[in-house]
Amino acid sequence: MPDLSTIVAEIAATMRAETARGTVADYIPELRRVSPDRFGIAVVTRDGEEIVGGDADEPFSIQSISKVFTLTLALGRVGDGLWKRVGREPSGDPFNSIVQLEHERGIPRNPFINAGAIAVTDVLLSGNRPREALGEILRFIRFVAEDEAIAIDEAVARSERETGFLNASLANYMRAFGVVQGQVEHVLGVYFHHCAIAMSCRHLARAGRYLAFNGRIPSLEAGIITPDRARRINALMLTCGHYDGSGDFAFSVGLPGKSGVGGGVLAVAPGTVSIAVWSPGLDAKGNSLLGRIALERLARAMQWSVFG
Ligand code: GLU
Repeated sequence: MPDLSTIVAEIAATMRAETARGTVADYIPELRRVSPDRFGIAVVTRDGEEIVGGDADEPFSIQSISKVFTLTLALGRVGDGLWKRVGREPSGDPFNSIVQLEHERGIPRNPFINAGAIAVTDVLLSGNRPREALGEILRFIRFVAEDEAIAIDEAVARSERETGFLNASLANYMRAFGVVQGQVEHVLGVYFHHCAIAMSCRHLARAGRYLAFNGRIPSLEAGIITPDRARRINALMLTCGHYDGSGDFAFSVGLPGKSGVGGGVLAVAPGTVSIAVWSPGLDAKGNSLLGRIALERLARAMQWSVFG
């Protein structure tokens, strides 16, 4: 088996030199400020060893990767009852599409497209004030990432609120069908803020350990969720984690993964490692271009695949 540290160092060096880097998201104006030259990678093993390369300690906007953590918390709160309000099928549509909502009476296809994540946020808000719901999300992320300093980038949250007209229409549409039940302004506020959490690759890879290791963080001896639930969240990441690029990600990388428009990707090789990569330039579907290429190389070199 090739040496993991050597492979990670090689990938970081190649990705740094790559000229075709995709396009940094600009529909959230604040995200445009990030340099496309950045590249970071972090891999965490079962015994807690951290192998990192490039800008692995630089925080970036996790955006939709936060949806994995809000889904985990919402399932903890309402269990399988969540699936009355959110589906579990890949959408085949862009992350912010409203088309399916009309056909399917306000029920979003899955918890990772924007509509689904907004419905999940509504579940976390129920019975809470926005500040409390956000506090719960942050506490969870800080715990699983083992870093109390993880915070929300307020400038990104503000920028998203000022331009989030599509997300506002999704939330209002679902409110009309009772899928969103709270005050739309509050639900959107919490959603924009959890998307604006800033984390580094190292933090993110640590945070993914409970998904990689059967719901547990082995080095902390902490049980976070049941093995069954971890398996199911991984299944959703594999089938829905990259929007209408999910099939291609499964085909080329072969691991459950969740992307965000900040250019991050969290992926897990179940039983083996949790991985985070970051490169801000996106492909046409809004997923990190070099992030996918880096994961494809890593998974192939190490022969990590959920498909055998
Ligand atoms: N906060 C972003 C939005 O709602 C998340 C999209 C993403 O990361 O894919 O537009």
